[in-house]
Amino acid sequence: MRRGRASTCPVVSPGPERWIASVIGALLLVLLAPPARAASAPQPCAAGHVRLTFDDGPHPTATPRILDTLADRGAEATFFVTGEMTTARPDLVRRASQEGHRIGNHSWSHPELITLDRTQVASQLRRTNQAIELATGNAPSEWRPPYGATNDLVQAAARDVGLDTMVLWTVDPRDWADPPATTIRDRVLQGVRPGSIVLLHDATGQNTPAALPMILDGLAARGYCTR
Ligand SMILES: [Zn+2]
Repeated sequence: MRRGRASTCPVVSPGPERWIASVIGALLLVLLAPPARAASAPQPCAAGHVRLTFDDGPHPTATPRILDTLADRGAEATFFVTGEMTTARPDLVRRASQEGHRIGNHSWSHPELITLDRTQVASQLRRTNQAIELATGNAPSEWRPPYGATNDLVQAAARDVGLDTMVLWTVDPRDWADPPATTIRDRVLQGVRPGSIVLLHDATGQNTPAALPMILDGLAARGYCTR
C-alpha cells in the first residue's frame, strides 16, 4: 500500500459535480454570446441588384454549364439568344426559361441590323420571336441588337414585332476575346454598380463558364444579388 503518497503529492481532481457545472457554464456562454458576424459577409442584396446577361447562345456545352452554376447559386440571368441557335437547341432555351431565367431576342443570324432595311430587320426579329415562343411557350418582350448597333429604323421595326424593351449593357468585360477567367471576373467586379447590366457570352466566350462562379462569389461578397 502506498497511501502516504496521496498526501505528499496531492492531485486536484474535480468531482463529477464540478465537471457538470463546467460543461453547463460553457454551454451558457455559447448560447448567450452575441452571434459572430464576419465583416466580409454583408446582408444579401444590401448593395442592390445587377443583371447578368448571356448573348449569342444557346451553346451545346457552355450553356448547360452556365445554367448549372446559376442553379447552384440561386442566381438569375437573361439569355439573349439568336433564332439560329435557338432552332438548333430549343431544349436549352426551354430549360433556361423553366429555371426562371429571362429569354430575350438577339436577332436571327446576328447581323448588324443598321445595315438592313426595315423589312429585313423585322424579319430577323420576328423569326427569332417565333423560335423562342416555340421553345418556351412565350414570346419575348426584351431584345438586344447585335453589337449594340441600333437606330430609329431598327427600333421602329422592333416595336412592329412586339419587342418593347431594348436592353443594352453598362459593363463589358470583353469575354468574347477569351481573356483568362480571372480577368473576366476582375473586369466585372471592378465595373459593377447598383443596377449594372453585365454583358457576357455563352456561345463565344471560351472562359466565361469558368469565370461565372468567381463572378457570383465576388458579387455576393459585395452584397449584390442578381436578377
Ligand atoms: Zn451578340
